[in-house]
Amino acid sequence: MSYVIAPPALACVPVAGGGEFPVHRIYCVGRNYAEHAQEMGFTGREPPFFFMKPADAIVAVPAGTTGRIAYPPLTANLHHEIELVVAIGRGGSNIRAADAPSHIWGYAVGLDMTRRDLQNEMKKQGRPWCIGKAFDQSAPIGPLLPYAQTGELLKGAITLSVNGTVKQKGDLAELIWSVNETIEQLSAAWTLQPGDLIFTGTPAGVAAVVRGDVMEGAIAGLGSLKVAVE
Ligand code: MN
Repeated sequence: MSYVIAPPALACVPVAGGGEFPVHRIYCVGRNYAEHAQEMGFTGREPPFFFMKPADAIVAVPAGTTGRIAYPPLTANLHHEIELVVAIGRGGSNIRAADAPSHIWGYAVGLDMTRRDLQNEMKKQGRPWCIGKAFDQSAPIGPLLPYAQTGELLKGAITLSVNGTVKQKGDLAELIWSVNETIEQLSAAWTLQPGDLIFTGTPAGVAAVVRGDVMEGAIAGLGSLKVAVE
């Protein structure tokens, strides 16, 4: 292959215990915990919907370190959304929920950082959310833990604190659309590929961060993810 410019670097997520998971696409589920749907002005009973982030929005944070993100431009309301991230190891289309676990390679703790003011403005105008959701460094993520090690994650605390104060608190069991149902719905719309990541939605308590804040997210069984805003 003779590239006419240098090919972009492949986005990767480190795996706990060694190795790198190469990222193909990042899918995200909107409003997937009832209380968060309600805080955003919805009932929590709507069908699932999806948006995407570019793979290179990832900020990989190795275990035991603090990641850093730059406060992004054009916003005065940068929100944290702590989320369970599912990594797809085996692709497919029209995957049934019952078969979904065999497509999961592993899990990680992730942050769906959101320029809420821009997202709200786009919502109001009926325009795409990209500028609010899919910006540079909008997807900090901790190390992936293999499914073989964790087993299927169906319940467990998911929390986020800012400077030591708990802001978001929920349980994976409260997902409106389970991981398996999400894989079924997503794979009906797109052919999932090995390397795809799915951000599965955030519990209630989303709020703004400013420069100097340190966010620490945690999910039972997956450890924590610490990210500073600079
Ligand atoms: Mn989200």
